[in-house]
Amino acid sequence: MAKKGDHKKEDVNKTKASNKKEAGIKTDKSKKPDHDTKKKQTDSKQTDKKQSGDEQSARKKIIINSQTVSDLSEHLPIKGKHKIGKRLLIAFIILICLCGLAFGLSKAGIIPITITYLEDQGLLIEFPDPAEFYRQKTHPEEYAQTDLQKEDSTAQGSSAVQGSSATAQTESGVTETGNTLLLPDGLEIPLCPTDSHDHERRVLSGFTLCYREDYEQPEWVAYTITPEKLVKETERANNFRADPQISTGSATPDDYKASGYDRGHLAPAADMAYSDATMRESFYMSNMSPQEPSFNRGIWNNLENDVRAIAAGCDCLYVITGPVLEKPASKYAHIGTNEVSVPEYYYKVLLAVTYEGTQRESVTSYAYIVPNGKTDENPSKFICTIDDVEKRTGIDFFSLLEDGLENELEAGTKPTAEIIN
Ligand SMILES: [Zn+2]
Repeated sequence: MAKKGDHKKEDVNKTKASNKKEAGIKTDKSKKPDHDTKKKQTDSKQTDKKQSGDEQSARKKIIINSQTVSDLSEHLPIKGKHKIGKRLLIAFIILICLCGLAFGLSKAGIIPITITYLEDQGLLIEFPDPAEFYRQKTHPEEYAQTDLQKEDSTAQGSSAVQGSSATAQTESGVTETGNTLLLPDGLEIPLCPTDSHDHERRVLSGFTLCYREDYEQPEWVAYTITPEKLVKETERANNFRADPQISTGSATPDDYKASGYDRGHLAPAADMAYSDATMRESFYMSNMSPQEPSFNRGIWNNLENDVRAIAAGCDCLYVITGPVLEKPASKYAHIGTNEVSVPEYYYKVLLAVTYEGTQRESVTSYAYIVPNGKTDENPSKFICTIDDVEKRTGIDFFSLLEDGLENELEAGTKPTAEIIN
């Protein structure tokens, strides 16, 4: 048996040597594994005594062949690493090229992707509604006219608003002017008062605001609510923090600490619950104003709920809201080291639009001015005209609307739609 075993060992070494020769490996490096091989052979011999000689032989060859492979693998990784590194580099270059190509095509308007940079999220890549993109391609005249209308309105500015007994809801503006188009983009963005210079506009993904450094809060926050945005996709974030994008420095959570005032959202967190990004944005201090707790959690909260109820009944609701800053900052009480003004009133201005296809069906305006304090009244008690809000704040709302419709809507005192409480 011993002789037979030795003979087999020779066969084995031959196999091993020939394998190594093929792989171009020096034999002195494989000395240690040889010992292992021998040990394994001995172990194998002890455990498999009952097996026939042929079976044993086959088994040993398998063991030795796998050992040989493990010897070879000691040398392979160096070569493999080079290959992997090279492949990674090629993949990286291809990725960079694709990104560059996508960016170029999106800038050229060939593919409908917008790439924007947000400081807290990095690059934001947005894909528009395919239906709208298709409509834009098949009916370019609609969009071209909308742009022209926007330019025209911007150039004219807003004329002085005339008093009128018209109701807030009007369809006449649609048929009389022959304007049956979608309302212009950015309709919610108002024009700031012209008698002050501390305005800083901040465009976020869910809303736009104008920050007034003198008051350490925004004078307006504007956004739209569509039925899709009413779908709650995320929970309240509660991560109140200073807004790093306000060049003069925004108010901080510390300013409100122990002040007795709530950090009152202007764009409510509940209106921004359709995405994580918009929810997080709503907690920037540039979206806050010091509100009496009984006001913030009472009538203001009720009004915010009303706004969502109105939004649920139309195709697009334009919302502009903020404090009534009608006096110099020095005339207001203030809180914190940044001296955040405590407003005495807040306003909300709304425009609810319904469409029939691409034609405007109805446009309804709403306006409220509510004192910053406790009240048991319903928000409907505080309905006023948009003209009233413009007079007190100096802000010009809906300047992109054709003047006839703008005047009619802004002078209306009672929305025809029922206020829901
Ligand atoms: Zn402003």
